[in-house]
Amino acid sequence: MNIEQTVSAAVAGLQLGNTFTLDTLLTAVQERRHRRLRVVELAGLDTSDGICAVWLVTDTADIVLHARSDSALHRQQFVLHEFAHMILGHCEGQDCAAEDVLLPNIPPYTRGRLLKRQDIDCETEIAAESLADRLAAGIRGSVFAETRYSEVFG
Ligand SMILES: [Zn+2]
Repeated sequence: MNIEQTVSAAVAGLQLGNTFTLDTLLTAVQERRHRRLRVVELAGLDTSDGICAVWLVTDTADIVLHARSDSALHRQQFVLHEFAHMILGHCEGQDCAAEDVLLPNIPPYTRGRLLKRQDIDCETEIAAESLADRLAAGIRGSVFAETRYSEVFG
């Protein structure tokens, strides 16, 4: 399967339809992975070296730490990118590209994924970013449906 097909299959597998909310998506990811998923904003996350979000895997939960951003859309994209890794099953096997990270107040979990914007080159990163875009489109669709009236008449 090429990346396009992989991403399309992943979207179809979620069975969320064409439009959904971030909450619905989070619940779906939790159910697939049979573990809690928490999304936490980390004010101290230093984005100067391109790190926007980190996926931490603990024994009982997945935790997505993301940088503070004034743009809700950017923030959502950071989070969706990490969700995409989970949905695509990255980091499940031994080919997990775990990197050691030094973050303030974060215990040294053995596995985590980094999102480095300037370093999207390998296939898993391209696939994750592509799926994140598709998920964002689905969420935009649902937001659009909910706010259509105020946009038209507001
Ligand atoms: Zn990534």
